[in-house]
Amino acid sequence: MLNLGSEILKLEKNGIDMLHFDVMDGIFVNNITFGLPILEQVRKATDITLDVHLMINNPAKYIKRFAEAGADIISFHIESESNAIETINAIKDFGIRPAIAIKPSTSANAVFDLLPYLDMVLVMTVEPGFGGQSFIPNMVDKIRTIRSKITELGLDVNVEVDGGINGETSAFVRNAGANVLVSGSFLFNANDMAAAANALKDEKLC
Ligand code: ZN
Repeated sequence: MLNLGSEILKLEKNGIDMLHFDVMDGIFVNNITFGLPILEQVRKATDITLDVHLMINNPAKYIKRFAEAGADIISFHIESESNAIETINAIKDFGIRPAIAIKPSTSANAVFDLLPYLDMVLVMTVEPGFGGQSFIPNMVDKIRTIRSKITELGLDVNVEVDGGINGETSAFVRNAGANVLVSGSFLFNANDMAAAANALKDEKLC
């Protein structure tokens, strides 16, 4: 946080395409993270795509503020209390790309009706709340089911995965149809961040 500008520059130089912000309210998930002031500072420091993941109970109430703080993409949870279509429309009204996030325990078909209105579906591959958790293997089937439905409907919707993504799990999720990969610990703990970022992007067969 103290060297935000140089840290962001390092990420950009190492092949990171967007920054993912986990926003937690201590209610929807049992943790609290940074909020608007940090996002505003990051927006001032970079043009990189800012992907904001709201793990909060009432996302509709905060869309305007995250939009004004500089979000390019806003994800909110289908399990939250906000009306999904109204929240998607509120996000679009600010010219921001809307995404729906789903927890591991929520089934894939919960998002099917919303696919035509979305830019992206965010599949949580760990229980939301804390970083550094292990990937839940049967989420691969959920990714595949969602990607199949998107293809069947002839839509252009991104599938993002968040949680436990590393050089091995990235191959599974990409083969299942994910095309946006969130990674924290794997990149920040790597000796060579550029090589780690490349490993996430590499074509692999499994
Ligand atoms: Zn996230």
